Amino acid sequence: MDAIRDPNEEIDATSPAWVFGGESVDALVAHIDAVLGCSCPVCIRHAEVHTAQSIITADGQQAEVDEVLAPLLEAMNNAGIRTTDSCQNLSEAVAQLWPERLPVLASDQSATVNYARTIATGNAFIRLRTNTAAERRFLDALARVEGVTTQQTSEVAQVDFPLTALLRLTELASNSAKEERA
Ligand SMILES: [Zn+2]
Ligand SMILES: [Zn+2]
Repeated sequence: MDAIRDPNEEIDATSPAWVFGGESVDALVAHIDAVLGCSCPVCIRHAEVHTAQSIITADGQQAEVDEVLAPLLEAMNNAGIRTTDSCQNLSEAVAQLWPERLPVLASDQSATVNYARTIATGNAFIRLRTNTAAERRFLDALARVEGVTTQQTSEVAQVDFPLTALLRLTELASNSAKEERA
């Protein structure tokens, strides 16, 4: 699930690309995969707070995600939208599993894509890639959904949303798939 995989925890934090504003994110994503997932308490013990479910990602990998988000993530990945991280309520997960980390995540807005708003609102979040037509179409459609905010660079986006928007977002993801095939 890697919900709180914070690149700064695993890799040289001085590397500018880790703020998701820099170059070569593909190389970084490959590196993340090579790290075999995040070993922080929020990732390792995540299922103690949010019930887990397996999904198959757009690139055919199995991933453990929060059960509540699974239908949306499946719809996104079926549409060719590549998701990388998500959590139904990161604030809650961090508060229970790694409380000393919470103030850092809540205040650090140095990266273009960050968790500060996610923590402040208690909303769900999903991170996704932004390069394919389906991904861009999904992000465009999100702009019209109330209560949903996005942070994005040319490579990565983070969508923050209240769980009340789940069905609407799942619909939009499915529509992205249909348009992709048309
Ligand atoms: Zn982690
Ligand atoms: Zn979670």
